[in-house]
Amino acid sequence: MTSGRAALARYGWDAGWEAAFAPFSQPGSEPGRVTLAHTHIYTVVTGDGDLLARVSGRFRHVARERHEFPAVGDWVVCRRDAGGGRAQIHGLLPRRTRFSRKVAGETTDEQVVAANIDTIFIVMGCDVDFNLRRLERYLVLTRDSGASAIVLLNKADRVPDPQARRQATEALVPNLPVRLLSAKTGLGFDQLAHDLRPGQTIALLGSSGVGKSTIINRLAGSEILRTATVREADDRGRHTTRHRQLVLLPDGAMVIDSPGMRELQLWDASDGFTTTFEDIEALAPGCRFRDCTHRSEPDCAVRQAVERGELPASRLEGYLKLADERRHLEARIEEKRWDKRR
Ligand code: GDP
Ligand code: ZN
Repeated sequence: MTSGRAALARYGWDAGWEAAFAPFSQPGSEPGRVTLAHTHIYTVVTGDGDLLARVSGRFRHVARERHEFPAVGDWVVCRRDAGGGRAQIHGLLPRRTRFSRKVAGETTDEQVVAANIDTIFIVMGCDVDFNLRRLERYLVLTRDSGASAIVLLNKADRVPDPQARRQATEALVPNLPVRLLSAKTGLGFDQLAHDLRPGQTIALLGSSGVGKSTIINRLAGSEILRTATVREADDRGRHTTRHRQLVLLPDGAMVIDSPGMRELQLWDASDGFTTTFEDIEALAPGCRFRDCTHRSEPDCAVRQAVERGELPASRLEGYLKLADERRHLEARIEEKRWDKRR
């Protein structure tokens, strides 16, 4: 099994995962990483090739919420069926990070869009796409997931002074890594290589048209077509080409690119919320009311800071907008709890 574990290491398997797997370790069970998630069927890469897998009956019985089911990027415990090419998923190793969104519909349910992403590359254009308020939202999403963030300011070739954009972005949050990039000319890609390491899983977030696919293609080079699709035998022995959502890059890092990652909405922003708005949180203790919303209460230290020009009004606007969305979401979660009680 040693060589198998070495093969898994390419997908990020390490001593931590080995320890997490130990309780599941039994003859016939093996770890694998989900490279493609459909509603009920998964492609799982193992130490010995790809498997098509479903969750076992028992797994389905025990897992009650949507987020307890595997997502792309998850490490799972598999058992092969007699034939060998198919498997059942019996367990899910605890996630290090998870990207979630609320599920559209009557109730609010958490759906894990991708798991175990180490670093999110938040892509923003230097051109008309440049918007620090939107970046704040992406930073919140990223921090909530547990992943670290690197900002890629793409399309640097399209503005006369991209360095000014970079400085404005760096001023947003202390120690925020910001890279200037042009996926068109290749500017910044040498530097970007230092942000990637073997076994690391990344994903890109950003508006449509900002250049995410172009960046991935450049990182992947000509390898992408080879790695993005796997050929495997279907039921009748024909070879089919199946798209992957988790792709190995030539330098050993991996990128998760899935439809779900492209349609994210704000989930529970509580942790990321305070860290991203550190300036506002620092002022809040000066408000007269402990639960001040910084909208219309008297003696609000945050609004006073705006009036004195010490805090940009746009910061407060960004904060309030996010607070609204968060409250809205919390109300829906509360409604759902209420539904369950009845
Ligand atoms: P995605 O929707 O985020 O995946 O964006 P795409 O990668 O499809 O890029 C959208 C468009 O922007 C394409 O026409 C790209 O050629 C173009 N584009 C991407 N990166 C750059 C860049 O750095 N500079 C310029 N000028 N155009 C770019
Ligand atoms: Zn206040």
